[in-house]
Amino acid sequence: MSKNYQVVVIGGGPGGYVAAIRAAQLGLKTCLVEKEHLGGICLNWGCIPTKTLLRSSEINHLLQRASEFGFKISKANYDLDKIVKRSRDVAGQLSTGIKHLLKKNKIDVFMGEAQFSSSTELLVNSEKIRGEHLIIATGARARILPGFEPDDEVIMTYKQAMVPKSLPKRLLVVGSGAIGVEFASFYHNLGSAVTIVEVKDCILPVEDSEVSQFMAKSLTAQGIKICTSSTVKSIKKSKKSAEVTIQGSKDSFTETFDAVIMAVGIQGNIENLGLENTNVKTDRGSVVTDEWCKTDDKNIYAIGDVAGAPWLAHKASHEGIICVEKIAGASKVKPLKKHLVPGCTYSMPQIASIGLTEQSAKEKGLKVRIGKFPFIANGKAIAIGETEGFVKTIFDEKTGELLGAHMVGAEVTEMIQGYALAMTLEATEEELMHTIFPHPTLSEAMHESVLAAFSRPLHI
Ligand SMILES: Cc1cc2nc3c(=O)[nH]c(=O)nc-3n(C[C@H](O)[C@H](O)[C@H](O)COP(=O)(O)OP(=O)(O)OC[C@H]3O[C@@H](n4cnc5c(N)ncnc54)[C@H](O)[C@@H]3O)c2cc1C
Repeated sequence: MSKNYQVVVIGGGPGGYVAAIRAAQLGLKTCLVEKEHLGGICLNWGCIPTKTLLRSSEINHLLQRASEFGFKISKANYDLDKIVKRSRDVAGQLSTGIKHLLKKNKIDVFMGEAQFSSSTELLVNSEKIRGEHLIIATGARARILPGFEPDDEVIMTYKQAMVPKSLPKRLLVVGSGAIGVEFASFYHNLGSAVTIVEVKDCILPVEDSEVSQFMAKSLTAQGIKICTSSTVKSIKKSKKSAEVTIQGSKDSFTETFDAVIMAVGIQGNIENLGLENTNVKTDRGSVVTDEWCKTDDKNIYAIGDVAGAPWLAHKASHEGIICVEKIAGASKVKPLKKHLVPGCTYSMPQIASIGLTEQSAKEKGLKVRIGKFPFIANGKAIAIGETEGFVKTIFDEKTGELLGAHMVGAEVTEMIQGYALAMTLEATEEELMHTIFPHPTLSEAMHESVLAAFSRPLHI
């Protein structure tokens, strides 16, 4: 005998649990299957525990600056075990919260690994679960390069890097995307000597080039060593360290590190799912979907990290909502506009962006108007001692449309939502200029950047 549902969700991450809640809200009989932990990577090993760790390292950094703010602190010390424990406790608290939310919404939860036995049936712990609509939300995992497999001692992925037993004196971070740069910031602010290796010719290669250049300068000034156009040629491991040879565009050099974090991308969890028993197609590690998250199998959808870039929690959740509303036949569903998914990096300083970069706008043949405003000219930034960074806005010269916004600085990850709203509502440049921003706030720099694009900044 099988259990029957209208919607069956596989995976309890921000894609899966949000899809399940929305399905239940729409009156669909729903269940969710999760093999490990509710909340997925995001709550347990991604967004939330990293931000908890970064908070501790930011506090450590601020304590080092205590005298600047009028405090006398002889030497600030920290307890790494407590920092890690707090991060794990926060993750645990939120995962329990998801359990309650699913219960409140009367969603049946099956703890176990799901496998398709057909397009409409799953096997979970030898129990049969049938669904009219099935949503794959199985997420992704760290990409492992052959020869650089993680161990419990020296080579780490984000999982091991989140629960260090001790602070590595010398740390190598391979890969300079958001995850790599966040870990570089965390460990550097606690006292590790950090080197970042990036194969491309700049760090944070998806960001606007002014942002990545600014970050390279800022991290270098903080003391982080950056090697771009470089790859790890070889790693010779011993018990407590690794001798790593780094190949640059011209020379190579060998250095010893106590730990190496591999942050070279992620790959979708598509294996062992029984996809061969369905018509679902995959491409380079991701499930292939259309604009409604539908796969090539008419009963099956895929959302979140398993369905490809951008690999972000809010993209996963949004896709969950789109696909369930489509299943329920809602009339006002709109497909995801990938260029409206904001991206955030919670390093020090933070980075936040949305829409086109200046380069990508120009590559599209668009004539642009650029506005830029530095935080050094913002009153609140000076008051709180966070003057590093800027806000850059990119407008279509012909239509006045806001094409993109890119920010570096304190709390910019909290501010990007303002531009996300403006772009979603297709606000005109006039409306943006006439919006009233509260004073004193860092967000005034967002206003000034827009004004600067139209040659009328007030405070510069
Ligand atoms: C270190 C790190 C930091 C990050 N920081 C951020 C951030 O600040 N902001 C942001 O937006 N994103 C961040 N991300 C990315 C974010 O975590 C992912 O985009 C998000 O978790 C994707 O959600 P998802 O629901 O698609 O998959 P996941 O969260 O990966 O959830 C998938 C779930 O499916 C389960 N599962 C897999 N296979 C099966 C199966 N066969 N049967 C049953 N269950 C199964 C897994 O156990 C897992 O719980 C970060 C990621 C990492 C690694």
